[in-house]
Amino acid sequence: MAKILGIIGGGQLGMMITEAAKKMPEYISKIIVLDPTENCPAAQVGAEQILADFKDKDAIVDLANKSDIITYEIESGDSDVLKSVEKNAEINPSPETLKIIQDKFLQKSLLVENGIPVSEFIKIEKIEDIKEGIKKFGFPVLLKARRDAYDGRGNFKINSDDEIQIAFDYFKEQNLLLEKFVPFKMEVSVIASRNTKGQIKTYPLVENIHEKSILRETIAPARVTEQVTKKAEQIAEKTMAVLKGAGVFGIEMFVTQDNNIIINEIAPRVHNSGHHTLQSSETSQFEQHLRAILGLDLGSTKLLHPTIMYNILGTKSFEGEYIPLTLSEPNVYLKMYGKQISKPLRKLGHFNLVAENGETIEELMKKLEPLKEKVVTQPLH
Ligand code: AMP
Repeated sequence: MAKILGIIGGGQLGMMITEAAKKMPEYISKIIVLDPTENCPAAQVGAEQILADFKDKDAIVDLANKSDIITYEIESGDSDVLKSVEKNAEINPSPETLKIIQDKFLQKSLLVENGIPVSEFIKIEKIEDIKEGIKKFGFPVLLKARRDAYDGRGNFKINSDDEIQIAFDYFKEQNLLLEKFVPFKMEVSVIASRNTKGQIKTYPLVENIHEKSILRETIAPARVTEQVTKKAEQIAEKTMAVLKGAGVFGIEMFVTQDNNIIINEIAPRVHNSGHHTLQSSETSQFEQHLRAILGLDLGSTKLLHPTIMYNILGTKSFEGEYIPLTLSEPNVYLKMYGKQISKPLRKLGHFNLVAENGETIEELMKKLEPLKEKVVTQPLH
């Protein structure tokens, strides 16, 4: 019988999960999202909405009572509350996995315990711990919030002694960790999935370009040697063996100067660097996630066409309503998220530029440049 799907978070990821779910009516009869923003992106494409904060206990209980299965598009949900409603609805990935992943210190500790390479790190409880860490790692170092950080907002790079106090004060009372800075060659990621029966599939390695710690472009496939690709795939597989639970995971990695791979962090959910799969692959990451949590066979992850995904971010200089964006170019697929208000660097949409007739990534890169100009947000009034 078709199931009712509950999603914690109804932003763009919840929106694209909802759209994929609507194409599977034999398995999913209804989608309900929990989100604090009225008419959130997922609600605009047909999800019912519970209007409440992601951490609102009563709202999570309400969602569990109304749903057969629950998943999430954000990792900041209250894992203890989720654990307590497991008897009402099946939750994937599991609250235990969420609890570990949502705390960067626990996440990295688990990886290290299992022999998976990460940048060196230590737990920070007082300012003296930072000074100790710097003695060990040298400058620069990154002070990071252990929880609730995204798009680089939870990071502070410390370059000199003068910045230690400023960095410590920046985070106020939050739990912290200190990490050695990695002068990486490239940022890459693997979108991996496991279904409830244990079947695992990974998408090919992609390359990620960030601007101010926010993802700007994903290049599929990554421009690295076969050897680097292999190493990344092996590490992704090893990581999936350590993480429990079903669903799609975004595994972010660095390629070091000596062509080794280390993990930066893992997201227990569909991931921005997987948006290219909407057009580049037979199975999108959103459908794959649903297949995984429903216990269906996972779909093909083969990259059918090289693709560049470009994130449309709000212009730095203004906040407010913006002139609607359109793009009608061959092999360009624009996806806007229905957010009426632009804010500096807010993720408003993305487009995928898909190769045709054996076009190379270099050729796509040239095509991309003029397209970037066409998606700059301008004030409506
Ligand atoms: P995070 O929020 O921890 O994923 O970090 C956001 C971005 O900061 C990453 O995509 C990297 O560009 C950068 N970053 C994070 N950790 C490190 C590190 N240890 N060394 C160098 N850059 C880092």
